Amino acid sequence: MKSIYFEGDILKIGLIKVMSKFSKKAYHSKISPIKFKTFEDPKLPKEDWVRVKNIETGICGSDMTFYTCAQGPSTAFLPIPCSKITYLGHETVGEVVEVGSKVKNFKVGDRVCMNKYMACCDLKGYDKQDECEMCKAGNYADCENYGEPSKVNIYAGAGMGDSYLAPEGQLLSVEGLTDDEAVLIEPFAVSLHAALKRVPKEGEKVLVVGAGMIGLGLIQFLKILQPKCKVYVMERNPNKHEFAKKLGADEILVGEPYEAVKNATGAKMYGKGGNRMLLGGFDVIYDCVGKRTMLNDTLRWLKAQGTLVKIGYQMTKTKFDETPIWWQGLTIIGADSHGMENYNGKKISTFEIVKDMMLKKQLITDGFITHRFKLNDYKKAFKLLIENPKDTIKVVLDCTE
Ligand SMILES: [Zn+2]
Ligand SMILES: [Zn+2]
Repeated sequence: MKSIYFEGDILKIGLIKVMSKFSKKAYHSKISPIKFKTFEDPKLPKEDWVRVKNIETGICGSDMTFYTCAQGPSTAFLPIPCSKITYLGHETVGEVVEVGSKVKNFKVGDRVCMNKYMACCDLKGYDKQDECEMCKAGNYADCENYGEPSKVNIYAGAGMGDSYLAPEGQLLSVEGLTDDEAVLIEPFAVSLHAALKRVPKEGEKVLVVGAGMIGLGLIQFLKILQPKCKVYVMERNPNKHEFAKKLGADEILVGEPYEAVKNATGAKMYGKGGNRMLLGGFDVIYDCVGKRTMLNDTLRWLKAQGTLVKIGYQMTKTKFDETPIWWQGLTIIGADSHGMENYNGKKISTFEIVKDMMLKKQLITDGFITHRFKLNDYKKAFKLLIENPKDTIKVVLDCTE
């Protein structure tokens, strides 16, 4: 088994943090805690597990966090014990090549994607009756055993490699979809999950900040869920504007952000320079950027009683002015990955909804994948993402040799 993985080696992480300040080349150098190695093929750890051969895998922002050692020393993740090795790649499509004797839903030759990737009861080999409340409800990304030891060799590989092992509950069949559609299910599920956290109401003005992969997906889902809302988009890169409009954006905000928000919503603006405040503003803001100063601004661009859905993130402590939250009665909703949704009156996983929409050809999928690299050239792929040229949306690794 060949796999790209992150080794939680404090010394190497520290070195990368220092060296990368001088040269970005440090990320791709020998001191990087990202390794690409060949192991002896592990055996299936339980009879309800399968082996999957990867076809292609998208690179996610979370993979980038590992590659660039972006996590600061004071995030909430740090105190939680976790495996020393993290295999990269969860936006993946592959083919089942081996099944354990108790596998019910898959056979050799089935094409699948990875439905779960955050450490959860299922991936840790817990029996069904011992799963935590969150996992039992299908919200595996909120697992309460996230920090508990695994009963099996969790994450025996993942999407960035030639193959991986998985309990069958981790997988979803993607029969009927092309490889390029299947590889987009996961990032689309992230966008849909965020949209379903706060679906716009008829007539509402909502703002999507950041038109990268997740923001672009979100625009599309917001318009599907509520065709009668007005979706505004704030994105500095003009190369993304046309695509955002094609996906349903009504208007792109251009120019100075506070002025643009004021003009779009008719809000009243007070103050100047670094301390401006709007009264009036957007009903909902979906922040897909999450950069350091963003929270400070988005809270001021919301109408009183408005909602901020926070999807973009940074892995370090931040400072922001909290006064708009209580003064304006704002709601902040965090959105991460995917899980079980209440959708059209039934409980269904985010992945299933996206897959169904793809099968029914309700989603635009062309145009999201902008670059492709061979698995062996993964460093070139990450280098491109770090440089982030203007036409980059989703970069995919071809895992077939
Ligand atoms: Zn992802
Ligand atoms: Zn759990």
